[in-house]
Amino acid sequence: MCPIKIIERTPKNRREKIELDSVELCPDILDKYNISGPRYTSYPTALEFNQDYTADDYSASLRELPDGKSLSLYIHIPFCQHICYYCACNKIITKHRSKSEQYVEYLIKEIELVAEKMPNRKQNPLRQIHWGGGTPTYLSIEQITQIMQQVRLCFYVPDEASTEISIEVDPRAIAIEDVKKLADLGFNRMSIGVQDFDDKVQKAVNRVQSFELTRDTLLEARLHGFKSINLDLIYGLPFQTPQTFNATIKKVIDISPDRISVFNYAHLPHRFKPQRRISGDDLPSASEKLAIFQAIIKQLQANGYLYIGMDHFAKPTDELAIAQQEGKLHRNFQGYTTHEEYDLIGIGVSSIGSIDGHYHQNLKVVESYYNAIDKNEIPTWRGTGVGNDDRVRKAVIFALICHFELDILSIELEFNIVFKQYFQTELVALEPFVDDELIAVNDEKIEVNSKGRLLIRNICMVFDAYMNELHLLNSFSKVI
Ligand code: SF4
Repeated sequence: MCPIKIIERTPKNRREKIELDSVELCPDILDKYNISGPRYTSYPTALEFNQDYTADDYSASLRELPDGKSLSLYIHIPFCQHICYYCACNKIITKHRSKSEQYVEYLIKEIELVAEKMPNRKQNPLRQIHWGGGTPTYLSIEQITQIMQQVRLCFYVPDEASTEISIEVDPRAIAIEDVKKLADLGFNRMSIGVQDFDDKVQKAVNRVQSFELTRDTLLEARLHGFKSINLDLIYGLPFQTPQTFNATIKKVIDISPDRISVFNYAHLPHRFKPQRRISGDDLPSASEKLAIFQAIIKQLQANGYLYIGMDHFAKPTDELAIAQQEGKLHRNFQGYTTHEEYDLIGIGVSSIGSIDGHYHQNLKVVESYYNAIDKNEIPTWRGTGVGNDDRVRKAVIFALICHFELDILSIELEFNIVFKQYFQTELVALEPFVDDELIAVNDEKIEVNSKGRLLIRNICMVFDAYMNELHLLNSFSKVI
């Protein structure tokens, strides 16, 4: 455990609504900064995970969890019926339901194995449970029920009203009457995958999904009490233009989700095989992508959504927007999240968790995952411990990416450092960003301005101790 003073990030960090609709990045700035970079859902990023971190390290972290510490749980369901060509997730495309039956049996065993490592687990309330994939609703309601029963048996889940239980939903893979059944099981948050409503784009990425189907799923969820309903979109897909995407956004606004995620498509066909079905010639250029994103910002802000950051928008009444206003926004593998203080346990093949800043990832190949569980072992693939320097840098990077502002004094107090000395090299590296009017730096603060907010990944990269050219070239998506 590192001897760190916990400084609560107070309303001092509150910020006003971000207005980005007038932002124009000139071509020179775009050329200069449109490099590859991480999305910082963790720090260190997953590229630093290694196999020196073992199941024993993870078990020790679980064993030492302080009493009363609240937890999040992530459950990964890797199955999908159809392949989307843009997909970069760890998934298994299959129509053989027997595969999922076997997987459910192993998930249930894994939940028990993990819980056994936590002697005081009934003192650690699960405050968030998130089901992701793949396609969680590939499983039947009966299978989802079995898993939720096991979660409730093995962990302490407070009453539904105070626990966020969320699920990613593909409207093509759920019967409308099952939305109510999910609500009856305690699910109260939903994220709906869409990407784009344009026919030509949908065909080009092999994800044909009607607007009506999406609308009906959302309305049904709302009817049954789901809150913070999110719609996932992607910009940068083949054949998209500002005009076509405007039409998609207009339809999205019509059904009024609480949150909207508009992810930047990362075309990395050397890493993700399905993306080889997408021709690079059909993709919008960097300047077209920027124009699309600027049009999205303008349209969403004009319709009352706040720009949270990176690729997220929310209504001012949504808990994500409220968390940001209160300085309590955080990032994890699902993107922005509302509870910075929760440790995360990942269940299922390839799942990532984080306990006391350490990261742990399960085996990625389903057969190896089954073999480990058969031996009553936690199915660890890799992970990373965390040193003091990692903690300081993570606090800086997450403050910038969540709040677009860094309170230098709070970092100095929290980590007992002199910022100017500790980050001497980084402050020099930030000078071009100051010259390009992307940030302002003084003795008290680093403030990211409107233009800089679009290039927040570049700014965070300055503080990333692991960044090198090889990483940049091979591993990450372009920032725009
Ligand atoms: S994008 Fe989602 S639904 Fe499509 S193949 Fe990937 S995980 Fe499955």
